[in-house]
Amino acid sequence: PGEQLPFDASKRTIVVLGSGWASTSFLKSIDTEQYNVVVVSPRNYFLFTPLLPSCTVGTIDVRSIVEPTRFITRHKSREVKVYEAECTEIDPVKKTITIADNSEIKGDSAQATLEYDYLVIGTGATNQTFGIKGVEEHACFLKEVWDAQKIRTKVMDCIETAAFPGQAEEEIERLLHMVVVGGGPTGIEYAAELHDFLKEDLASWYPELAEKIKITLVEALPNVLPAFSKQLIDYTETTFKEQNITIHTKTMVKEVKEKEIIVQQADGTKANIPYGLLVWATGNTVRPVIRNLMAKLPEHQTVRRGLAVDDWLQLNGTEGIYALGDASATKYAPTAQVASQQGKYLARLFGQLAVCDKMEEELKTLEDGDEKEKKARKLQKAKSIKPFEYTHQGSLAYIGSDRAIADLPFGGGNVASGGVATFLFWRSAYLSNLFSGRNRSLVVTDWIKKNILGRDISRE
Ligand code: FAD
Ligand code: NAD
Repeated sequence: PGEQLPFDASKRTIVVLGSGWASTSFLKSIDTEQYNVVVVSPRNYFLFTPLLPSCTVGTIDVRSIVEPTRFITRHKSREVKVYEAECTEIDPVKKTITIADNSEIKGDSAQATLEYDYLVIGTGATNQTFGIKGVEEHACFLKEVWDAQKIRTKVMDCIETAAFPGQAEEEIERLLHMVVVGGGPTGIEYAAELHDFLKEDLASWYPELAEKIKITLVEALPNVLPAFSKQLIDYTETTFKEQNITIHTKTMVKEVKEKEIIVQQADGTKANIPYGLLVWATGNTVRPVIRNLMAKLPEHQTVRRGLAVDDWLQLNGTEGIYALGDASATKYAPTAQVASQQGKYLARLFGQLAVCDKMEEELKTLEDGDEKEKKARKLQKAKSIKPFEYTHQGSLAYIGSDRAIADLPFGGGNVASGGVATFLFWRSAYLSNLFSGRNRSLVVTDWIKKNILGRDISRE
């Protein structure tokens, strides 16, 4: 990249919160000729979440699916400031935010206040626990890089502990029981990856223990993957059965203890399920900083799921604040597809706002007359910005044994497919969606490496 233009005090400043799907897509498209841009995110990279389940067992290395935010901002024409920090407070009246360095290493300055003209909130969501006792303490989540690393370490720890001399049979069974809570795509994909690891690697490295390793998935609803079509749900359940993954549907986790979970079936009966590893994947909830902002706007922010926005993604009850991705509550599902389309749309909207600002300035300099009227009409037209519209490109999920499922929109309807061919499609779709050539080559190398050398079983 060439020399970047510095910040320009005459231009408006957009502060972007987050470096996930929504914010990164916004950053890629925003025209920095028109605005100063500042990014605030506690992690200094973008994470390609669809391949995160593959990192829990080492099919893919986490470094292959992250992209430093500065790799993206260095290509912009004007300097973009990137702060590795968490936004801890938003003041919509003063138009300021408070940021804090919550990382391990802190300098003399670990808190600051930033001013914004526009605020773009792409802080995503946090893990839903429904306040169930013991979840935060004992379960692993699967949302961030460190979650995948923690799961990988714990799986190996459970297995090595089970191999310790003198371990009672019952204890071995517990340690080797891997339980997944939540039959949404995250839980399903994790269970599928774990199955592959067991079948393709652990079986040969731990022949005496491998057959004792059990995978169980617990889902509160009558079936898994409620967002997929019926035939794909059936196909997934059959494939899981073939893979010896037990699914307990209509079973709700009520409490999590250190070594067991307490579940309740639809008929009210309760049971204790001992586990070695527990992965919790029951969806999203609002982050504290967002909850706090909503509390400041009680009349306008009444949706519990997230920030209520209008059709142009502007936060209800505010001016100049926009929310997108999992942080917002719209009619769309909280997916990467929606978040990235919203990011791109919002960058376009800002481009148009800049055009309108320029036209308004020009209008002020014109004398009354035909020319001014013509320009005023043009401005009116430019101001009628189209609302956000989502284009669904299909839903995909990996279900193990080189099989995937796909619900794809086709000619106004839907085509459902599952199997090995869909898996190849799944791979190529994710590969082409990866943000950079660098990531693409790393992921392909990881896949080849896994096929030739197998997965690494060292405990990190
Ligand atoms: P995120 O991508 O979560 O990004 C949020 C950003 O905000 C992060 O950078 C975070 O560090 C930052 N942040 C957090 N708190 C603060 C704060 N206080 N201040 C500033 N920044 C903050 N969707 C699909 O469409 N297809 C898939 O295949 C798919 N697979 C998935 C697999 C997994 C394992 C998971 C967990 C999700 C998957 N999703 C998938 C869903 C998808 O990842 C989310 O919908 C998407 O990440 C939402 O984008 P976002 O930018 O809103 O949030
Ligand atoms: P989810 O909300 O889709 O599924 C969570 C599941 O947990 C639900 O089926 C729910 O009934 C169940 N559950 C809740 N409480 C429970 C309890 N106490 N006991 C047992 N089960 C319980 O969550 P997710 O899978 O993390 O997905 C979150 C979002 O990310 C979704 O929009 C999803 O589409 C998206 N995503 C997509 C993909 C993909 O496309 N391949 C992969 C991962 C995530």
